[in-house]
Amino acid sequence: MNFQRPKGTNDILPVVESKHWQFIEEKARTLFSNYHFNEIRTPIFEHYEVFVRSVGDTSDIVSKEMYSFYDKKNRHMTLRPEGTAPVVRAYVENRLFGPEFSNPYKLYYIGPMFRYENPQKGRLRQFHQIGVEAFGSENPATDVETIAMAMDFFKQLGLQKIRLVINSLGDKETRENYRQALIDYLLPHESELSEDSQRRLQENPLRVLDSKDKRDQQFVAEAPSILDYLSNEAKFHFEMVTTMLDALKIAYEIDSTMVRGLDYYTHTIFEIMSDEKEMGAQSTICAGGRYNQLVEELGGPETPGFGFAMGIERILMVLKAERVTFPKENTVDAYVVSLGKETNAESLKVTQAIRNAGFSADRDFMNRKAKAQFKTAEKLGATLVLTLGEQELADRMINIKNMDTRIEKRFILSDIYNNFSKIYDEMTQEN
Ligand code: ATP
Ligand code: MG
Repeated sequence: MNFQRPKGTNDILPVVESKHWQFIEEKARTLFSNYHFNEIRTPIFEHYEVFVRSVGDTSDIVSKEMYSFYDKKNRHMTLRPEGTAPVVRAYVENRLFGPEFSNPYKLYYIGPMFRYENPQKGRLRQFHQIGVEAFGSENPATDVETIAMAMDFFKQLGLQKIRLVINSLGDKETRENYRQALIDYLLPHESELSEDSQRRLQENPLRVLDSKDKRDQQFVAEAPSILDYLSNEAKFHFEMVTTMLDALKIAYEIDSTMVRGLDYYTHTIFEIMSDEKEMGAQSTICAGGRYNQLVEELGGPETPGFGFAMGIERILMVLKAERVTFPKENTVDAYVVSLGKETNAESLKVTQAIRNAGFSADRDFMNRKAKAQFKTAEKLGATLVLTLGEQELADRMINIKNMDTRIEKRFILSDIYNNFSKIYDEMTQEN
């Protein structure tokens, strides 16, 4: 029997961890909304074909990493390994390209993704991505706006040591020309390549450039540059992208060997990496690019797209490595110390009244001694502690202490019920 969590998955625990997750997610929601990206939520599983068609059957994701199964009616299903294909599927299925929708149509998603990987630090089987997609604009300004949003996001989180790397995969014409040049270059070295790359050389030679195998890397380093094969149109697009990045003073490097692991990219691709050593081979925290054929691939009208995805677990690792401090955990405004069994119901009423007045509150449920309850209140960082003993209850009074100033006052219970807000102000005013 195995009652442990599956390999490559995590429990995200309160208080600190889940708070950090919420912090990241909220930052993303606010920022993306400022850029007029709106949230979409798609199913966690999709038909297997959605990913084969889009991510590509020679990709590592489809060929090795998918959690696929047949349901009871023998339908081939897959737990989503990435977010773009499902969002494109939803865009097409819900006809979000119609004239009643804004164009470009800008979306974001947050949620778990599933890949059967070798779990390591920053590499999980259930991991979480925040991703965005912009449909309908061919304009290189869309590429740059979206990249700028990702950079803004990391800046807002307080990251310093990050680097933007870009490349262009060009259009169909570019790819065809380059593919041949790459085969011509790699073929004489075929037997020196890793087994995976020997296979890739036939199926999808661009994939060789993405190899993490040491045996391939020397050949990758000296491979012809795709940038020398860009068609005029592709070259113009890429030049516009770099010009606009310069205009926004966003620093970048060009890496002509960067290809990305998914088949659907065209033109601009980019990665944002951390320079923190402890990230190792998991240093990419954000990756994406343009995909001008994908919507058509999944049965929609010809529609260009641009998007990225970032890994939340990796962002958290980088934040830790860079020693970024999170905002102080939120504390409770009030803690109700409840003394003696008789006060149980009234304490509950008091706690609810505080919450209903818009404050955060908690109370003792374990009938602990006064000292232990005050300790808990301190641990929770309570601003005020309200003490209700049997005598107070009989007098219809309650004692309130400001934990900072140590000032104590007695109030009539009904005042708590009528206007806790006023009491809170009175108790927390300076001097
Ligand atoms: P890698 O080269 O590290 O395997 P990838 O190219 O497969 O990454 P993408 O599919 O582009 O990654 O996903 C975008 C981002 O999602 C990555 O940059 C990373 O931050 C995160 N990510 C991808 N796979 C995992 C995983 N297995 N565990 C945790 N995060 C991941
Ligand atoms: Mg991968």
